[in-house]
Amino acid sequence: MSSHPVAETVASLMPRARAELAELVAFKSVADFGQYPRSESEGAANWVADALRAEGFTDVALLDTPDGTQSVYGYLPGPEGARTVLLYAHYDVQPPLDEAGWDTPPFELTERDGRWYGRGAADCKGGVIMHLLALRALKANGGIPVHVKVIAEGSEEQGTGGLERYAEEHPELLRADTVVIGDAGNFRVGLPTVTTTLRGMTLVRAQVDTLQGNLHSGQFGGAAPDALAALIRALDSLRAEDGSTTVDGLPGGTAWEGLQYDEEQFRKDAKVLDGVELIGSGTVADRIWARPAVTVLGIDCPPVVGATPSVQASARALISLRVPPGVDAAEATKLLQAHLEAHTPWGARVRTEQIGQGQAFRADTTSPAYRAMADAMAVAYPGERMQYAGQGGSIPLCNTLAALYPEAEILLIGLSEPEAQIHAVNESVSPDELERLSVTEALFLLNYAG
Ligand SMILES: [Zn+2]
Repeated sequence: MSSHPVAETVASLMPRARAELAELVAFKSVADFGQYPRSESEGAANWVADALRAEGFTDVALLDTPDGTQSVYGYLPGPEGARTVLLYAHYDVQPPLDEAGWDTPPFELTERDGRWYGRGAADCKGGVIMHLLALRALKANGGIPVHVKVIAEGSEEQGTGGLERYAEEHPELLRADTVVIGDAGNFRVGLPTVTTTLRGMTLVRAQVDTLQGNLHSGQFGGAAPDALAALIRALDSLRAEDGSTTVDGLPGGTAWEGLQYDEEQFRKDAKVLDGVELIGSGTVADRIWARPAVTVLGIDCPPVVGATPSVQASARALISLRVPPGVDAAEATKLLQAHLEAHTPWGARVRTEQIGQGQAFRADTTSPAYRAMADAMAVAYPGERMQYAGQGGSIPLCNTLAALYPEAEILLIGLSEPEAQIHAVNESVSPDELERLSVTEALFLLNYAG
């Protein structure tokens, strides 16, 4: 760790940060109120609101978003004429899944082998703490040089889009010169990384019909058109021999320009079984960050247990297509639908329907904000340079903010490095990363203001 005064302050604040993270992790703030009581989310929201008030934030409010959850907003005015920075995190968490699969209770922050375990420790309650640490460190070292807005979302993991719609309905609320999304992660522990692109996605449902009803496979099989077989053939046409995604008309050969993802490391991270090949072509980074990827998420057909000797009259599939930056998600949806319709054999009737869609995102890495972040990371991570990574998934709020504030720079950083195992059992955060990234964020705000 560097000896910058900001770094010394953050180091001294770490015991308090740990106690606070333990308090926040103790709320079972899963924003699915059929599974977990609303009072758990409200407790976490109030915790964040109180923490912001204690730091001198004015206008602290619990925003009722259209999906029935609450996001916490706060504003801390800075010096006259200063720039405005929006800091984002979310206080809701994924459900713990199999509680018995956890080595320690998911809602009790527990230290083990130098990491802090608990649901949300990295994703993204640790992000809330990171923002607080950065602001406290600046206050202790001459003050916060920018206007700060904080938004802590209450339903990010549910994908219900409450905050996106609220932001669209209140277009001035989150306006900022730069946005720091504290919900991404370093490529690996100790390697400072900004996520510069996110793939978009489209979801399409396909239904194939061939017969008025199911038929006996002994009596009719061999000539009767099988809807499930037709669907399987149409779905198979979405991949080349090597497993690359092939949607007619959709470009698939783009190369990734930033950090590369070592193939052996990827095999380990993805837990690929021995002897099984990776699919696709190009480097791993090309495949997961710069190229389209189709996944069949589900097929409606008879389950194996209870299956009868029948030729199927109908079959359905839900298909996800991850869309790389530079490709319009609406255009990709049309291409996917047209492809499925063109590749369904035997004149089988096929209907496709778009279920959901989100655009890809690409940051402007030549902006002053990116320079300020690179300088901050060089100090917080001595001997390392800021790396650019992509992310295969999407963050819809990113697109909402990019659309509302096209001039704003958006930087994605955070605590969700691979060892954090976010969304899985035994999620944890590295306290060293929390410390370094809090220093990073504080120095970023200093650099960006100056
Ligand atoms: Zn998250």
